[in-house]
Amino acid sequence: HANTTWSLVDNYMTERLIPRDDVLEQVMAANQREELPPIDVSASQGKLLQLLARMTNAKRILEIGTLGGYSTIWMGKALPADGKLVTLELDPKHAQVAQANIALAGLSRLVEIRVGVALEQLAKLEEEGTEPFDLIFIDADKPSNPAYLQWALRFSHPGTVIVGDNVVRDGEIINRHSTDPRVQGIRTFYDMLAAEPRISATAIQTVGSKGYDGFMIGIVNG
Ligand code: SAM
Repeated sequence: HANTTWSLVDNYMTERLIPRDDVLEQVMAANQREELPPIDVSASQGKLLQLLARMTNAKRILEIGTLGGYSTIWMGKALPADGKLVTLELDPKHAQVAQANIALAGLSRLVEIRVGVALEQLAKLEEEGTEPFDLIFIDADKPSNPAYLQWALRFSHPGTVIVGDNVVRDGEIINRHSTDPRVQGIRTFYDMLAAEPRISATAIQTVGSKGYDGFMIGIVNG
């Protein structure tokens, strides 16, 4: 996507609105060196997540899908000193790279990476009697999105903001006959949101350095 207008405009905006950050640059370099897939959020999206954390005064954040911790660090930097971010990652190598990145960002004390199948970790969190979260970012395996939404609602309070990434998939989501389980996972996610009185949601299409996609954002009703 590097030379598309979308990507160049993304760069233009990023250059003006998002000051260069040594730590985040080192994080991206580490992810590349460790050959993690380049599927982290973009800088503008990371900043958006950080702004949402600030706008909601988030003290407790839940992330499903850590990868190298890029989005984790964006959100973690918005936390107060007594805040907490729990992030769930299946792949031990991703988690290991993320742990080092989070240490580099000085966020180790606030961030807990839980390694394993997210659905199992979510069940464990409940057994442990975890407090509700103020901001929840869903960004892991898309076929599980419907289940992640259920868990997100269970771990919410009125006012919790829930964000889901990759809800457009180059427009594939309108193809009801798609045989891609990721597309079907997202379609079911929309159907659940449509039928769910506990959350008020919208979805925004995005273009940029990550191509054509979009995110869902919702707030849990009082
Ligand atoms: N949020 C990250 C960022 O923006 O920097 C990107 C996350 S990446 C899109 C998705 C991650 O979810 C991958 O690291 C993948 O290993 C992880 N994942 C996939 N299936 C999972 C599962 N069942 N449980 C937990 N994590 C999973």
